[in-house]
Amino acid sequence: MAEGTKLEGQCLCGGVRVLMTAPDRHVEACHCSMCRRWGGGAFLSLKLVTDPAIEGEEHIVRYPSSAWAERAFCARCGTHLFYFYKPKAGYSFAAGLFDGAEGFELAEEIFIDEKPGYYDFAGERERLTAAEVRAKYSPGRRGITRTLPS
Ligand SMILES: [Zn+2]
Ligand SMILES: [Zn+2]
Repeated sequence: MAEGTKLEGQCLCGGVRVLMTAPDRHVEACHCSMCRRWGGGAFLSLKLVTDPAIEGEEHIVRYPSSAWAERAFCARCGTHLFYFYKPKAGYSFAAGLFDGAEGFELAEEIFIDEKPGYYDFAGERERLTAAEVRAKYSPGRRGITRTLPS
């Protein structure tokens, strides 16, 4: 458990490869409107990591989606790669990049109040609204109407 799980992932074309150690075996889903516009549906990602090894940087485009975050994709094949959270210099990688994450558990859903009605994920788990996400991850930050993820 403390060791984490070593994962190897790649984009569709293989131009970008990622080696990382997942701190746990959890996947989280973000239903916010930006994630859905970005990827066409909920963003399923692994826990934030700060020390991944990324090959193929030359193929990666980082779109600055807010003052505090970037969303990256492969310029060659369009695969959505990661959400980068600048205050922590942390990467939330798309779970789909990693075959080794297929046995992981969907452990948390965030921005549940922005989820459209046309889908639901079955099962019981923590489901946080935008306000609850703000309270959990950005305590004490005032005057921010939109926080993580963006
Ligand atoms: Zn690619
Ligand atoms: Zn989101």
